[in-house]
Amino acid sequence: MDTLIVGGGIGGLTLALAVHAAAPDSRIRIFEAAADVRALGVGINLGPHAVKELSALGLENALVAVACTPQDYAFFTRHGQLVYREPWGRAAGHQWPHLSIHRGDLHQVLLAAVRGRIGARNFFTGYRCTAFEQDEDSVTARFAAPDGAALAAQRGDILVGCDGIHSVVRRQLYPGEGAFCFRGINLWRGVTRQQPFLTGRSIARIGARHATLIVYPIRDAIDAAGNQLINWVAEIEREVAVPVDWSKPGRLEDFSPTYQDWTFDWLDAAAMIRNADLILSYPMVDRDPLERWTFGRVTLLGDAAHPMYPQGGNGGAQAIIDAATLGRLLKSAPDPVAALQAYEAERAPATARIVLQNRSAPPNVIVDTVEQRTRGKRFERLEDIISQDELRAIFERYQKVAGYHVNQVGRPPAQRG
Ligand SMILES: Cc1cc2nc3c(=O)[nH]c(=O)nc-3n(C[C@H](O)[C@H](O)[C@H](O)COP(=O)(O)OP(=O)(O)OC[C@H]3O[C@@H](n4cnc5c(N)ncnc54)[C@H](O)[C@@H]3O)c2cc1C
Repeated sequence: MDTLIVGGGIGGLTLALAVHAAAPDSRIRIFEAAADVRALGVGINLGPHAVKELSALGLENALVAVACTPQDYAFFTRHGQLVYREPWGRAAGHQWPHLSIHRGDLHQVLLAAVRGRIGARNFFTGYRCTAFEQDEDSVTARFAAPDGAALAAQRGDILVGCDGIHSVVRRQLYPGEGAFCFRGINLWRGVTRQQPFLTGRSIARIGARHATLIVYPIRDAIDAAGNQLINWVAEIEREVAVPVDWSKPGRLEDFSPTYQDWTFDWLDAAAMIRNADLILSYPMVDRDPLERWTFGRVTLLGDAAHPMYPQGGNGGAQAIIDAATLGRLLKSAPDPVAALQAYEAERAPATARIVLQNRSAPPNVIVDTVEQRTRGKRFERLEDIISQDELRAIFERYQKVAGYHVNQVGRPPAQRG
């Protein structure tokens, strides 16, 4: 089997490793548009459902060494009042940890494994896919160099479009798709070096629909003073979307006024935002789910297949689960084309449910419910407004659709009933 992978991001690299694990003697080539690979982005969350797959590929220790492993997830109102908190990752009984990690660190771990197992010569940089064609026996991909010059076409048995949010492979399959769906929310994402907050291993989600702030550490003990690299994401309602570009710098003055009085006894969020090392912007955009990803020898994976709102720790995780699923099916299905069809049948409905849930019941619906009932004011007694059981049920529902509830992913062998 000869696999062409278009895009060397999180999904493409994981797929290369999964195909290699399933068929070590097969030929695997990854074609990445960027001319050089740099540690881009800020933080990304991977739940135990995704870490389970990375662990099966032998990457858990390398990832844990460069990531943070949160032990609790807490929701607060925009006044900093605690609404709901529950144990997270291993502390919630999972066999695998939850990882909060710099996307660049995740990418480096995956890339080192690809170079070690599949060979650096099979990871092509400066190869932007421009088109593909297929016949009964093979698929051929066409490429351009960063200067636009055509590169030699490459032929394989299957082609997987892992080329992200602006996928060229998807555009060829669905030429008239039009603009992304914008939910009226923009994100400003940043990192700040500062002292740990709460337990030092907490994910905090503050505020609700009009303005939310999600805060979590992604690198531990980064200096002698014990600072962490703290990742934060500010989600604010806006009428106009910022560009759909993961690397677009964001401007402090465009969003920081919303948070200027978000100073709590457990976190000075306003100062954290002011002191950022890096600020990037991104809009809350997705696309309507596709029923079909697979066309003969070609399929889609990750953001190319199911662009979803980057929230709830799903964007990266679902790409990783896609990759692991396809790897397994390439081993068990009678032929590669049948594997691509089985992959679509398993993954398209599952990811469609997450795309739709992120629209209708995003994770901040917990605090939204509370703020609606308090009309955005401070509360005296939370139990007069909502019960912990109701809050737990809302959050459990989200986790079950996202596929990372502890009953779905698995407990350590010693704790299984
Ligand atoms: C530069 C960058 C920074 C990001 N930062 C964050 C972040 O901070 N937090 C977060 O949650 N998510 C971030 N993401 C998105 C996140 O990686 C994805 O949502 C998720 O991991 C799904 O992975 P994916 O492999 O589908 O897409 P991606 O990880 O986006 O990978 C797609 C890859 O395909 C390459 N590519 C695109 N077009 C072509 C083409 N025509 N030919 C060949 N290669 C092509 C891209 O350069 C990229 O390497 C970032 C993505 C990128 C590209």
